[in-house]
Amino acid sequence: MATRIKLFLFCNLICFLTVTSAQQSNIDQAQIRGAMEFLASDAMQGRASGSHDELLAATYLASQLREIGIEPAGDEGGYIQNVSGEFNFYREGKKLWNTRNVIGRLQGRDEKLKDQVILLTAHMDHIGIGKPVNGDNIYNGADDDASGCVAVLQLARTLAHEKAPKRTVLFVFFGSEETGGQGNQYFLQHPPVPLKNIVANLEFEMIGRADTAVKLDELWLTGFERSNLGPELAKHGAKLVADPHPKESFFQRSDNYALAKQGVVAHTVSSFGLHSDYHRPGDDVAHIDFNHMEEAIHSMLGPVEWLANSEFKPEWLEGKKP
Ligand SMILES: [Zn+2]
Repeated sequence: MATRIKLFLFCNLICFLTVTSAQQSNIDQAQIRGAMEFLASDAMQGRASGSHDELLAATYLASQLREIGIEPAGDEGGYIQNVSGEFNFYREGKKLWNTRNVIGRLQGRDEKLKDQVILLTAHMDHIGIGKPVNGDNIYNGADDDASGCVAVLQLARTLAHEKAPKRTVLFVFFGSEETGGQGNQYFLQHPPVPLKNIVANLEFEMIGRADTAVKLDELWLTGFERSNLGPELAKHGAKLVADPHPKESFFQRSDNYALAKQGVVAHTVSSFGLHSDYHRPGDDVAHIDFNHMEEAIHSMLGPVEWLANSEFKPEWLEGKKP
């Protein structure tokens, strides 16, 4: 009898856990889809670098961080770090520019580890309105990089729900990546924590579609072979592999690179399969593979949580520091 009751309770527990995890997964899916539908909507006009539309994206991301329970770490007690001054541009050299970053902080709880910072980043801008393609002139940037912003938001949600991690986690959305990383340049000049305290940076870029060059649901890490961070995350469950497109120099092509040049172990997580909608109006929500994107984000939650609670300090491998 006792065994039967135990068995009955056990089955109920399993059933309950299955239902709650299914409900949780529905909530995650709705959060991901909801955030994508806003950031990459036509209403955002393609979030051009330094524009009012980029400010709208920044305001939305800041408000999401507030709701999630992440504290502000931008200017004057808010989330937004105003960026203005003279910056380097890809084509035009140096010029005056205004943009912004969004910065949130989850304070670490461990006396010994709280000064160590894990930096999770994505860029919120895209390329705005451009030449029409098939009658559409809005370059929505759903994959590039609304998908990365949404991944960072979901990581914030997960880390904020659990007991505070041992290390401090910074969540940063950079402005003006597409024009040459002006938000990032300013961040490096005015970091909210000393740069030497940042033990790792993961930038999330274009995870909204699967890459057929790797296995289903795998993500790749730019510069995987340069440090021990990727292999260690993979050991802790991340479906991370080496970048299958080394000729594209993706390691050098996102905001992680400027940080890496300052010594921070900084890589980009992606599954960009060189699709033809890159920097075209067709990079919109209709072309997002939500199953892949949810799986991709989900697969990084545990490994990032581990990193935020571990004492592991990633290092560049011999001769591989940029
Ligand atoms: Zn991008």
